[in-house]
Formats: sequence, C-alpha cells, structure tokens
Amino acid sequence: MKKYFKWLLNLIVIAAVIAVVIVHGIQSLEAKVLPSFKTLDGFPTPKVEQPERILGPAGEIFEFTTCNRKDLGFTIANAQIPAGAGPLPHIHHYTNEWFWIPQGNLELFQSFNEYPDLNQPATNDKGGRTIVYTLDTQPNQVVYSSKYHVHGFVNTSSETRPLTFVWIQDQTSPIFTLNDGGIRQYFQEVGIPIKDLNNLPQITDEARKKFVTSAPKYGINQSNYFLKYVSSVSNQPPSALLNVSNDQDLNKIIDAINAYNQGDKSVKCF
Ligand code: ZN
Repeated sequence: MKKYFKWLLNLIVIAAVIAVVIVHGIQSLEAKVLPSFKTLDGFPTPKVEQPERILGPAGEIFEFTTCNRKDLGFTIANAQIPAGAGPLPHIHHYTNEWFWIPQGNLELFQSFNEYPDLNQPATNDKGGRTIVYTLDTQPNQVVYSSKYHVHGFVNTSSETRPLTFVWIQDQTSPIFTLNDGGIRQYFQEVGIPIKDLNNLPQITDEARKKFVTSAPKYGINQSNYFLKYVSSVSNQPPSALLNVSNDQDLNKIIDAINAYNQGDKSVKCF
C-alpha cells in the first residue's frame, strides 16, 4: 500500500513538471509570434532652405519636403499633431506610407482588408465597410501602412505631438509633377498655407469639404465621418497585419536623404 502511494506521488510530480514545461513552451511560442516593432532613434530630414508649411484640414501642422532620385520619389512631412487631431479613415492608391512617432501617444488604426479599386471605397454601398485594428504607438516606433488599407490615427494625448510622415510613390501611380504619387499636390490643394506658426490660420469648412471631394484626383478615398468605412474597431490586430513592413524602400529613402544632405547631386529635394 505504502509503495503504491509513493508511486502515485511520483506520478503526480512528473505530471506537474510536464504541465509546467508545456505551458512555458506555449507561452514562449506566443511571445515569438508577437511582432517586434521597428524603432528608429531619429529620422533624417532633407536640409532644404524652406520646407513648405501647410495646415492640413485634419489639423496637422505640416512641413513638406519632396525628394527624387532616379525613379524613387517620396514626400516627407515633419508634422505637429494637436491633441485630438488626426485624419478620418482613408485609403491611398498611389502611395505607401510610414509613420515615425518620436514620442508615441498616437493611436493608429488600420484595416486588414484591402480596397484596390479607387471607385469602390469601403462604404456599405461599394466595397463594404471594414474592421479597423488600433495600435497604441510607442516612442520612436515606425509603422508601415501600404496602399489599399483603410487607416488613420488620432493624437490620444492632451498635448501636441510630433509625427513624421513619409509617402513613397507607388509603381502604379500616374505621373504627378513632383513624382511623389500626388500627395503633396493634394495637400497644397486642400490645405491652408501657414505664414506664421504662432498664428495658425483657421481650418475652413471649404478646406474640410475639399479634403474629401478632391481626394480621388490624387488616388485617395477620404471619408468624412468615422463610421463611413469602418464597421467596428478592435484592439487585437491579426499578426499578419502587424508583421507587414517595407524596409527595403524605407532604407532607400533614408539613404537618399542622407546622400542629399551630404551634397550628392543625384538626389533632388525641394
Ligand atoms: Zn494615410
């Protein structure tokens, strides 16, 4: 009888050890599935004499520079995002976009679903609305958002926060004057020039309206209220969405900016 209990006790101990090993194994497997977000300590800015300052209809205080190097064309905007500001859900067709968020505090959202037809945006009567997944960003994080996804962001803090936008011209884009997929021309058309940073212009109803109505000309579907393209919001993004990146193009961009700043004449920035 005593022998039997000893045997049973041993069995329980062995089973417990196996259970711990299995649970630990699953946990570390999950940890591996979780994405490791790319971060950059700084993002280079092309040293041009006067970046173009524009107030975006969604409240962004933009400083635009565009660079061209052979068939690489991109626009970079160092921006200040006031508390609560940020664009409503939209879709790019001619550009792919990165956000570099030096201080965090911006909540990005993005769909997994893609809407490749400019004439079929994510509305109920066209492409159908979508779930968007939120991502609360950490300081210095870089987030990539490729064309065709519904996305946007909000400054969820109570203070103005910096954000660097980078848009690269997609290969499928028609030719725009600045070779950047039309993004800067879009903001030139719909935004309001800033003459004095300490005395910002008012965002007019007309600017808000044009932000939406002029968008398709530049390959953008821009919604005018949050639930136009969005059916629900989740904070559990599928890992396939989180693992999307485009470091190859991002490195080309960083390379071009650094080359320009070192006097390389093969890069034009303006
Ligand atoms: Zn965008």
